[in-house]
Amino acid sequence: MLSTVDMGYQDISPPNLVDYLRISLIDRCNFRCQYCMPEDAELDYILQQDLLTQDELLNLIQNVFIPLGFNRFRLTGGEPLLRPDVVALVRAIATLPETQDLSMTTNGFLLAKKAQALYDAGLRRINISLDSLNPETFHEITGHRSQTRWHQVWQGIQTAYQVGFDPLKLNVVVIPGVNDSEILDLAALSIDRQWHVRFIEFMPIGNGSLFTERQWIPSEELRQRIRDRWGLTTAQVRGNGPADILKIPGAQGTLGFISQMSECFCDRCNRMRLSADGWLRPCLLNETGQIDLKTALRAGTSLTQLRQHVQEILTLKPEINFKQRHSGTSGPYNRTMSQIGG
Ligand code: SAM
Repeated sequence: MLSTVDMGYQDISPPNLVDYLRISLIDRCNFRCQYCMPEDAELDYILQQDLLTQDELLNLIQNVFIPLGFNRFRLTGGEPLLRPDVVALVRAIATLPETQDLSMTTNGFLLAKKAQALYDAGLRRINISLDSLNPETFHEITGHRSQTRWHQVWQGIQTAYQVGFDPLKLNVVVIPGVNDSEILDLAALSIDRQWHVRFIEFMPIGNGSLFTERQWIPSEELRQRIRDRWGLTTAQVRGNGPADILKIPGAQGTLGFISQMSECFCDRCNRMRLSADGWLRPCLLNETGQIDLKTALRAGTSLTQLRQHVQEILTLKPEINFKQRHSGTSGPYNRTMSQIGG
């Protein structure tokens, strides 16, 4: 691997350190969550030959992103556990000396089978989407009628906990009239176990018509409901990301609130996203400044040039944000969260 000195690269990181890369391993998903993908919509899945290969991905991580200061990586999708080489990828990234943090976001459906192998490969932190404790509501949200789906995800969560994933976070996208009546039950999962429940405000990406119909609930309203029931205190831990972390007094786990709609956190955004077909995107909700690293790599563009391109985007990133989203959006958001990498 080239060192930063060999490459003649100087560290010119911008003041707000962007050191966190969310990597989509695959755009396909075995769930079809209603907030993420419009029902009945035909999604153009990325063709196998257009996915970044394992070698290409590791090449970009080692020779483009790490030299530019990225040292924290999250593997997501689509559903990352659908990628056949997911364990090998985890092992390769976890063993890079520069990797300071590696995590994964999954729907948990295949987790019971894969949790131990992922842990052995070096993964320690995991976020599992769990939008409901009620199997029927869960199936309504995830778009599957099979009653065993919820139970399989629940088993995946239990297995990950037993294997030792820490922190283990449960992601809940709150949709008015669908799962908001379960806020207290979901929050209660943090009381007896070191499970960290994170409530995410529903965003206008993926399913525009559901968003228009349902809208979103501000985190403060959820906090108030929880406060009224148990009280809430500030947690001693600080997360890596945009969540405000609190806890129910005496609880083992914490509660996180991701409030991108009500409390814009663009100014402290520390991340970029790499899609499974190699598009680098500086902001989830603003399409300005995306570049196609895979095509450039396959066309023979040198790693030095690729780093320069990414460095230029890093410099522009403070201006490419949700606040400025209308300047960078060509009509409805073109890609769903599962396509970009949630
Ligand atoms: N398949 C994995 C999963 O289900 O967690 C990873 C991909 S999923 C796209 C990643 C995250 O995106 C999930 O936590 C999901 O809840 C979130 N997400 C997707 N669409 C969203 C939306 N419209 N608003 C808020 N969060 C969304």
